[in-house]
Amino acid sequence: MRRVYLDHSATTPVHPRVAAVINRYMLADFGNASSIHEFGKTAQQALRWSRERVAELVGASEADEIVFTSGGTESDNLAIKGAAAARKDRGRHIITSAVEHHAVLHTCEALEEDGFQVTKVGVDEYGRVDPEEVSEAIRDDTVLISIMLANNEVGTIQPVTEIAQAAREREILVHTDAVQAVPQMPVDVEDLGVDLLSLSGHKMYGPKGVGALYIRRGTRLLSQEHGGHHEKGRRAGTENIPGIAGLGEAAATTMEELPQREKHLERLQRRLIEGLLQVEGVHLNGHRRERLPNNVSISAAAIEGESILLGLNAEGIAASSGSACTSGALEPSHVLLAMGMSHEMAHGSLRMTLGRDNSQEDIDHVLEILPPIIDRLREMSPFEIQ
Ligand SMILES: *Cc1c(COP(=O)(O)O)cnc(C)c1O
Repeated sequence: MRRVYLDHSATTPVHPRVAAVINRYMLADFGNASSIHEFGKTAQQALRWSRERVAELVGASEADEIVFTSGGTESDNLAIKGAAAARKDRGRHIITSAVEHHAVLHTCEALEEDGFQVTKVGVDEYGRVDPEEVSEAIRDDTVLISIMLANNEVGTIQPVTEIAQAAREREILVHTDAVQAVPQMPVDVEDLGVDLLSLSGHKMYGPKGVGALYIRRGTRLLSQEHGGHHEKGRRAGTENIPGIAGLGEAAATTMEELPQREKHLERLQRRLIEGLLQVEGVHLNGHRRERLPNNVSISAAAIEGESILLGLNAEGIAASSGSACTSGALEPSHVLLAMGMSHEMAHGSLRMTLGRDNSQEDIDHVLEILPPIIDRLREMSPFEIQ
């Protein structure tokens, strides 16, 4: 059976070049970067090389502005908790959006328990935050704004540059979760005007369990880990050298491949969207233009996304749905609900996220398999198409 992986926003396969680098730093050059001997020096060189590659990828002017973490979740936590703790004497108000990843939303909720106030701005039907609304939410005690660069469920790109402009005039720190954006669109911290930016290895053809946080020079954060003086006191713990070296290689390959990768993904995305919109009752979620080139999120009226997933899985196609199983009950995605979608439509949503390894044949295969699955489920459905 042909197997087609269309869940790159959940995780990506490791790039062969990245796997080779990881292997080297596990088996041959396994030293601790804090050691004085040759083994340690080799590890330290890998650390420096990777920091430079990641800095280059996001347009940071200095390599020291990059701190390595255990992934996107930790980067988001360090950015938000670290900034909140460092600035709590100035104020205790944070602005974020209703469509953030849970690594941001739940971190903000944890801070609410600690006496912070959080304003969650909403989005329009395409999942876009209005920069005006963010500006209006700014108060005298606002210390941080955290708005993602691109959404992991519907692929909508946020107007982070505009949001950051208003914030910087008021000396408010701006964090952006760029985990989904980094592998497939140019990302530049100067163009964006952000102070903090999160990325994750396994969403960019690197390994799981490693990520990075860009911290603009001069930005004070309180470390959330206590121990040794690693990462200039910003993140204690022996560095994950194989993971970090792999992340560095993933950053280097992304820089090399990005123009081609973007074009390739856009072509496949257009083909898949055009094919799916021919199916009766299928609606494209998210923004038509301000969108990641790899995201195709649809809703199909009157059927369950979970049932489509199972049907696709039986045919060797891996995708994901817009629902999450929380305590045994299927909860429609907070992102789709924030976009004003009904529970019923949100339950009928399906996310297909493309990657560098997908081909046109993969897309044509999906366009053969998926429409009959939707038809079959609809025949069994107790609902009527509105
Ligand atoms: C995957 C993801 C994260 C979490 O990253 P991990 O490395 O899996 O912890 C955070 N934000 C977004 C937008 C993501 O897609």
